[in-house]
Amino acid sequence: MVIQKILIIGAGQMGSGIAQVCAQAGFDVKLNDMKEEFFNRGLTTITKNLSRNVEKGRMTEDEKLQVLSRITKSLDLNDASDVDLVIEAAVENMEIKQKIFKQLDEITPKHTILATNTSSLPITEIAAATNRPELVIGMHFMNPVPVMKLVEIIRGLATTDDVYTSIEEMTKKLGKVPVEVNDFPGFVSNRILMPMINEAIYTLYEGVATKEAIDDVMKLGMNHPMGPLQLADFIGLDTCLYIMEVLHDGFGDSKYRPCPLLRKYVKAGWLGKKTGRGFYEYV
Ligand code: NAD
Repeated sequence: MVIQKILIIGAGQMGSGIAQVCAQAGFDVKLNDMKEEFFNRGLTTITKNLSRNVEKGRMTEDEKLQVLSRITKSLDLNDASDVDLVIEAAVENMEIKQKIFKQLDEITPKHTILATNTSSLPITEIAAATNRPELVIGMHFMNPVPVMKLVEIIRGLATTDDVYTSIEEMTKKLGKVPVEVNDFPGFVSNRILMPMINEAIYTLYEGVATKEAIDDVMKLGMNHPMGPLQLADFIGLDTCLYIMEVLHDGFGDSKYRPCPLLRKYVKAGWLGKKTGRGFYEYV
């Protein structure tokens, strides 16, 4: 299956990064969000990233402009009517994702693959909102997308081998490394990472140590490049909470209970770097 035209849903942290790497690899990209200001915010991030690449001599100004010319604005899901692949990177919420996939199923051509960048939600359940579950697949990029090599590829129950192979090849064209995992809550990455982050939040909540001390222990003692509380801020505390809820509901095991402090921060709107405040403050 030949993939050339792609629509990406959500111009947030992940969607903008995915749009950038797809455009850099030569694909035509439509970047969709609900409001013009959200699209503009995503495009500003992409432009900044590319300008940094030019400054560091990794690409020329001309190449940067070519990459940007391959990204077009979309504020209407009907723009998916002529694409070969959709990559959905809206919020981590099953109801919202199912609604989007149901609409995409009606809008897109019959051959279009519908991929989701969900961090934790079951692919099979998202696929069930469509009449083409065999063309639905998980394509889980890591944050920040332009930097991180891994893409977890997750088949739903009905995903065909052809679709899997097309997405695996496309991932390699993006310069990424695909790793196949099965459809369980949190897949591999967040099943292991998120309980660690949640435990770090409990450690702070119970007064075992300050946030700086917790992060220092994990950086200096475990050789992690970033402490778990700072990493949570970078991921987004709302996303961390959604993922913990998916693990908690999906496995029915109390060991995945989200820390009350995480809930409190999310309720306060302290979502991490993207809102300027989470465990740390960002100016
Ligand atoms: P974000 O909050 O930065 O961006 C989400 C974007 O989606 C926003 O711009 C929002 O306006 C847009 N959006 C919401 N509903 C929409 C709709 N119906 N149509 C079009 N646009 C819509 O979130 P993010 O961190 O980019 O996460 C997006 C997805 O990627 C989530 O499913 C998340 O779990 C997953 N993910 C996140 C990370 C991470 O580290 N943040 C890593 C891997 C995967």
